[in-house]
Amino acid sequence: MPPLHISISITVFLLVALSITAFHLINMKRKYRDLRQTHRHLHSLISHIPDLIWLKDKQSRFLLVNKQFSRAFSIPEQQILGKTDFDICDDQTQAMAYYEDDLKTLREKQMVRTEELITGSDGCAAWSETIKVPIFDEHNQVVGTAGIARDISKRKKAERQMLYLAYHDDLTDLPNRISFTRQISKALQQPESHVAVILLGLNHFKTLNDSLGHACGDQVLIEISRRLKTLIDEHTIVARYSGDEFIISHQYYKQDNSLERLQTLLLQQFESPVILEELNYNLSASFGIAVAPDDGHSCETLLKNADLAMYQSKINKHKHCVYFVQEFADQLLYKMKLGNQLHQAMKNQEFSLVYQPKMNSKTNTLVGLESLLRWKTADHSWISPADFIPVAEQNGFIIELGGWIIKSVLRQIRIWLDQGLQVPPVSINVSAVQLKQPHFTDYLFQQLQRYQIPGDLLEIELTEGVLMENIEETIELLNKMRRRAIRISIDDFGTGYSSLSYLPQLPIDTLKIDRTFITNLHLNSDNQKIVKTIVHLAANFNLSVIAEGVETKEELEETINCQIDHIQGYFYSRPLTTAELEEKYLTPRP
Ligand code: C2E
Ligand code: CA
Ligand code: CA
Repeated sequence: MPPLHISISITVFLLVALSITAFHLINMKRKYRDLRQTHRHLHSLISHIPDLIWLKDKQSRFLLVNKQFSRAFSIPEQQILGKTDFDICDDQTQAMAYYEDDLKTLREKQMVRTEELITGSDGCAAWSETIKVPIFDEHNQVVGTAGIARDISKRKKAERQMLYLAYHDDLTDLPNRISFTRQISKALQQPESHVAVILLGLNHFKTLNDSLGHACGDQVLIEISRRLKTLIDEHTIVARYSGDEFIISHQYYKQDNSLERLQTLLLQQFESPVILEELNYNLSASFGIAVAPDDGHSCETLLKNADLAMYQSKINKHKHCVYFVQEFADQLLYKMKLGNQLHQAMKNQEFSLVYQPKMNSKTNTLVGLESLLRWKTADHSWISPADFIPVAEQNGFIIELGGWIIKSVLRQIRIWLDQGLQVPPVSINVSAVQLKQPHFTDYLFQQLQRYQIPGDLLEIELTEGVLMENIEETIELLNKMRRRAIRISIDDFGTGYSSLSYLPQLPIDTLKIDRTFITNLHLNSDNQKIVKTIVHLAANFNLSVIAEGVETKEELEETINCQIDHIQGYFYSRPLTTAELEEKYLTPRP
C-alpha cells in the first residue's frame, strides 16, 4: 500500500488527470461541434459566393466545387467530384489550358492568375479571371490546388469602353489626336513611303456655333465627320484634331497620284450644304498640308507645319490645300519677334495715327475719317498694321494699344475742335479682343468725357466676325454705345460669315463694303451683282453704305453706278497725317 499521502497524491493526480481528460473530452466534443459548425458556415459561404470555387488533388481531380461551379457547367456537384476538366469541358483545348495552369501551380508552388475569354456550353463568351493556389499538407508538401474564377465581362467591357474613349472622339466617333499620333507613327517608320498630313479647319465654325447654338454646331461636326469617314482606307486615316479641326493622313508612294485624288475628294466633301433644321448651310474649310519626309519626320513637326499651312490658307481664303513651305515658319518667327517688340515700341513712342478721308462723291465733301495705326520702328522701317495687329491681338497687347488709340483719337478730335475746325465723325477700328474686355465701354465713355467729345463724332468699325461672336452680348454692347450717339459700322462687309438673318437685329449704322468687291468692279459683273445686293439690303434696313479701297476713276464710276455715294480709297486720298489733313481737308467751323 502506498503511504496515504502518496495515495492521496495519486488520487489527486488521477483526479486531476481525469478532470483534465474530462475537460479535454468536453473540449474536443465542443471543438468537433465547432469544427462541424465552421464547416457548415464555410460551405454556406462558399455556396453563396458568386464566384466559381473548387479544390483539386494533384491529379487535377475535383475534390470540391461550389454551387456556382456546377451551375456554370450544368453538371450536378456529385457528378463533378473525382472528374477532371477533360471530363466536364466540351472544349478539350480549354481543358488542356486549365490542366496546364494546374501543373504550373503545382510545379511553381505559387499563385497563378489568368484572364481568359471562355465560351460556355450555351455558346456565350464571357471573360473570366482565375486564381489558382497550391495547397500544402502538414509536411509542407503540395497535395493539390484551390481555384476561384470570377466573371469579369462587365469590367472588361468597361475597360474596353475606356480604352475606346481614350482613343476616340466621343461626338464624332472618329479616332482622336492620341490615336492619330500612334497610327501615323507606324506609317512614318516605313522608309520608302511618303506620308502627307492634312489639317482641315472649318471656316467660321465658332460664329456658326455661337449664332445657331451648340447642338447645331455638334450636328455640323457629326455630318462633316460622316463625310470624311468615306475617305478612310488602308492608307488614309481621318481623326478629330480639336473643336473644329480634323486631321487626315495619307501614306503613298512617289509615283502614284493618290494624294491628288484624296485632295479632290476632300474638297468635294464641302460642295454640298449641310442641312440643319431644313435650312441649307454652305460650309467651307481651310486645308494645310505637310508631307514627310521633306516637311518633317515626326508627327509633331508635320502637324505643326500643316497647321502653319492651314493658317495661311485661312488668312488668304484659299479654296485648295496649301502646302507647307519654310517661309511660313519664318513668318511665324518674324511675328513672334514683332510680338516681343511691341511693348518697347509703345515706350519709345513708335506708334502714331493717320487718318483716311471718307468722301461724298456727289458733293465732293469730307463725310468722315478713319483712324489707322502706324508703327515706325527705331531703325525707321514701317511695319504694316496688317502684320502687327494680329500679333497684338494674339498676345493681348491690343488691349493696351487699343486703349492708347482711343485716347489719342479723342485727344486729336479735341485739338481740332479747339482749333475751331469742322470735324466729321472719326472712326476707330476695334478688334474682338478689345471689345470683349469687360470695361471697354467704361473706358470709352470715360475718355469721351475727359476730352468732352460728343458721341456722334465717333464711329466704331467692327468686322463681321467680331459682331457674330456672342451675338446677344454684342447687341447689348452696341446699344450701349449707340445710346451715346456713337455710330457703328461693319468693316470688310461681305468677306466674313454673313449671317444676313442677324442684320436686322444688329444695332448698326453703316456697311463698309470690302475692297475685294471694289477692286476692278467695272470689270467684274459678279461683284457688281453682290455690291448691288448689299446696297439693296442696306436700304431695306435703313443702313448707309460706304465703299472702301476705291483706287481708280473706273472703280469710282462703277461704285457710283451701284448707288454708293460714300467712298474711301486712294482715289481720293491715302491715309494722311494730322498736318496733311489740316492743310488739305479740315476747314473752319462756320
Ligand atoms: P481696315 O480697317 O480694312 O483698313 C483699311 C485698310 O485699307 C488700311 O490699311 C488702308 O490704308 C487701306 N486702304 C484704304 N484705301 C485703300 C485703297 O484704295 N487701296 C488699297 N490697296 N488699300 C487701301 P492699313 O492702314 O494698312 O490697315 C490694315 C488693317 O489693319 C486695317 O484694315 C485694320 O484691320 C487694321 N488696323 C489699322 N489700324 C488699326 C487700328 O487702329 N486698330 C485696329 N484694331 N486695327 C487697325
Ligand atoms: Ca476699318
Ligand atoms: Ca476695311
